[in-house]
Amino acid sequence: MPKAPKKTEQKPHEFTEEELRRLVGFFDVLIEMDMKQKKLCKRLEAEPKGFAMPGEGRDCSLCERGVYEGDGWFDKWGFKCSNCQDAVNKRKVPASLCIDHKHEKAIPDTTLAMKLDVKVHTLRKYIREGKIVGRRIPNGPYMILRKDNPNLGEAING
Ligand SMILES: [Zn+2]
Repeated sequence: MPKAPKKTEQKPHEFTEEELRRLVGFFDVLIEMDMKQKKLCKRLEAEPKGFAMPGEGRDCSLCERGVYEGDGWFDKWGFKCSNCQDAVNKRKVPASLCIDHKHEKAIPDTTLAMKLDVKVHTLRKYIREGKIVGRRIPNGPYMILRKDNPNLGEAING
């Protein structure tokens, strides 16, 4: 017979039905994501150049815009909108920037403008004047690369 817990003992946390339901839902999502990721990796083995992938609101790993209509492209550098994929194919910007999620190497001028709370227009003026070096993604933002702008320093940090 189990002893009744002393009154001074802390009662172990018992999950409520609602908490359990959310926990299970959370793990379901993790498992699903993991399975999707594994599927993608397998497919990349067969199609090393990548493949079209429905946008479904995914963010492009370069320009960071959500792709809601049509397909983007998935390859070893992750998911990109078709516009950025085109720019990468034409070597306008290095594909390696796609995995630079922390903006340690580069940042789109649109994202930088948000971070600095300035207008994109202002940044583009600097780019036109040559004060900032930006690499244009045709029909997209300028990518501001740290190595292109050694004097910009902390402005593109974080
Ligand atoms: Zn893009």
